[in-house]
Amino acid sequence: MRVTLLGTGTSTGIPMIGCTCPVCTSTDSRDMRLRTAALIETPDGNILIDAGPDMRQQLLSAGTKSLHAVLLTHEHQDHIGGIDDLRPLNYRMDTPMPVYGRRRTIEAVKKRYYYAFDNNNGGSSRPNLTMHELTPWQTLTLAGVPITVLPITHGTLDIFGYRIGNLAYITDASSIDAEVVRALAGVDTLIINALRDDPHPMHLSFDQAQAYVERIGPRRAYYVHLTHDILHATLIDRLPTHIQPGFDGLMLEVPA
Ligand SMILES: [Zn+2]
Ligand SMILES: [Zn+2]
Ligand SMILES: [Zn+2]
Repeated sequence: MRVTLLGTGTSTGIPMIGCTCPVCTSTDSRDMRLRTAALIETPDGNILIDAGPDMRQQLLSAGTKSLHAVLLTHEHQDHIGGIDDLRPLNYRMDTPMPVYGRRRTIEAVKKRYYYAFDNNNGGSSRPNLTMHELTPWQTLTLAGVPITVLPITHGTLDIFGYRIGNLAYITDASSIDAEVVRALAGVDTLIINALRDDPHPMHLSFDQAQAYVERIGPRRAYYVHLTHDILHATLIDRLPTHIQPGFDGLMLEVPA
């Protein structure tokens, strides 16, 4: 199984419009952070995790020709703002796109993309989606890989993380329950949000994320949902070798 980090940036994307800070003006490509999303490729199919506003650019960069499922973590716009860009894959595959998420997230998708669910939409092209509700701790198999739905706390919002085979994907967490920490024991690769040094009510800081990495104990971990507060080169120097900042386009092989 291969995972590609399509985006590793916080909700504004980095560079942030109008900002002239050292990160936003950096010439290191690893400091250019599109909105956080990931692509999982297995011999049996491709799974997208989240479909934020940079989706078109991200799927072009990844050379994606087919998608068999979209797993949504939650309905914040930086995670679902690119669903309309899935249309070309609808055309290619000539089949509805299965989209998975919790009920509240599905309702938000139906509201924000109302035209996709309206048969009298004036004939304009629209995404062809089938919505599938997931519940915490549910297990399912997609693209031949076993998946567990993880309940994650994102400030005042209950969202989902996913264990996908030997990969754990947790974005937008502000805290992770002990039960989830236990369920991730033995995971090979952990992708986890780490916003910045300063605490934030909705997100893990670097120190908080590192504490969870040490408790979960993966072979390696990658930070995503990064702000413009720190250069990639500075952060990588500060972290122990088993934790690295993610960057857009990073590809990881995860053993079955
Ligand atoms: Zn987010
Ligand atoms: Zn900046
Ligand atoms: Zn969020």
